[in-house]
Amino acid sequence: MEEVKEDITTDNKKTESKGTEDRTEHRKRIHTLKKVIVGILLSLLLLPTILSVVALGQIHQLNMQLNQSLLILSDLSMQVQEVRRIAEENNSQDVAIDTNASQPASRLQQIRMEDVVPADPYEGMVKVCLTFDDGPSRNTDAILDILDSYGIKATFFVNGHPGFEDQYRRIVEEGHTIGMHSYSHVYSDVYADIDGFATDLEEIRSYIRELTGEESIYYRFPGGSSNTVHTMPMQECIDYLDEMGITYFDWNVSIGDALGYERSVNALVDTTMAQINALDAQTIVILMHDAPGKETTVEALPILIEKIQALDNVAIVPITEDVTPVHHVIQ
Ligand SMILES: [Zn+2]
Repeated sequence: MEEVKEDITTDNKKTESKGTEDRTEHRKRIHTLKKVIVGILLSLLLLPTILSVVALGQIHQLNMQLNQSLLILSDLSMQVQEVRRIAEENNSQDVAIDTNASQPASRLQQIRMEDVVPADPYEGMVKVCLTFDDGPSRNTDAILDILDSYGIKATFFVNGHPGFEDQYRRIVEEGHTIGMHSYSHVYSDVYADIDGFATDLEEIRSYIRELTGEESIYYRFPGGSSNTVHTMPMQECIDYLDEMGITYFDWNVSIGDALGYERSVNALVDTTMAQINALDAQTIVILMHDAPGKETTVEALPILIEKIQALDNVAIVPITEDVTPVHHVIQ
């Protein structure tokens, strides 16, 4: 009986002890759960705060970048205004140069203008251009010698004449103007149609270029721009030359050496001087020929030069950009 009581007591003690352990465990769990809940609550409270702080930081950075951008934009705007102001000043100076207005151009611009457009030394004088067609030939050498002895420059409108390569070179090397007068001088070919004209033009132009290195920019139509030996509209040829940047020259005085018969030296000189004296023009272009058989032209040349030089306010000059073109056809 005693043993049974003891066992019951022991069992009761064990049961009490187990109950105490359970309560302790339960408390622990509750305590842990509380910690978790508090942690979650704290996290929920802190997270928006942290996010807000981060967001504020980023907003601050963006704000600074925006301010910097506005400053750069402001600088650019000022620079654009400065560029516009300078451009307007330059424009007004250009106008001053173009119109010779009272506002003076800058010294730098004046120097540049003088470099680009040299003054014409014969401005205001009557310009007489001696022009020789249909060469070169043996007569070309004699003419070049005469021109050299007077220190005069002339203009040669040449055709294609193989065998006279030295004369082409002499013309250019001695400072005369070399112009084109077609390669073949055969009317039916040169004026066949615009393609025929263009082909012949390229032929004489490249021939001159290969022999002399000179790019000729002057042309005289075989027969002149007023010739009626063909049915092709001359305006087509004139327009084509214009497209090519080539200037054509006719004449307003003729020495008369292209007639079918040979005229005396005196007749050549007299008819030429009569035309010059009757002409009221600032530019006089005299048609002559340095073709074979024109020996009287060679003989008349020194006499003619001296008579022209004796005139007042007259200069014998080669054809250049300073010479106003003489045209038979009014465009
Ligand atoms: Zn001719």
